Amino acid sequence: MEQKKIQCKIPFQTIQEGTHEFTFIIKKSFIEQYEIEEVLDANVTVTVVFQKKTRLHHVNYSIKGTITVPCDRCLDDCVVEIEMQDSLIVTTASDNQDSTDADDIYYIKPNETEINISNHIYESIILALPLQRIHSEGMCNKEIEKHILSNEHTKQKNNNESIWDSLQNIFDN
Ligand SMILES: [Zn+2]
Repeated sequence: MEQKKIQCKIPFQTIQEGTHEFTFIIKKSFIEQYEIEEVLDANVTVTVVFQKKTRLHHVNYSIKGTITVPCDRCLDDCVVEIEMQDSLIVTTASDNQDSTDADDIYYIKPNETEINISNHIYESIILALPLQRIHSEGMCNKEIEKHILSNEHTKQKNNNESIWDSLQNIFDN
């Protein structure tokens, strides 16, 4: 995968064995790098607890904050609160190791000095977003909602008319 500019990295090589905490602030520009999701704004704090051990290392992270997306109904800004936790096991890749990372295992390549968990964090943020992004009841843009409602009404009216018309035809015959 190509290198993104804004990344969440743990300086694996320079830290001592033990537990370390890191905080990353995720803004819109981080999510935009992936060019997949349309976000209008983002303000998410990622707290990473990294346990460096002799062979297997543990990454636990929690994600908390808000993502602003266009509302599916009225297209206005809709602020969605997200909160989730996830973890990863980090281990050293052997020479003949297939370098593809499994979902929850991260293989450190021999020349890597940092653990880049950006893709994992990105995926967790996207997973934390609800499939339907709609304002809570009554919070949609009033003008647009009025428009949607009147459209639905017209459609219904037309349907009723056409049913009535066909009934009328039957009676007429
Ligand atoms: Zn809305």
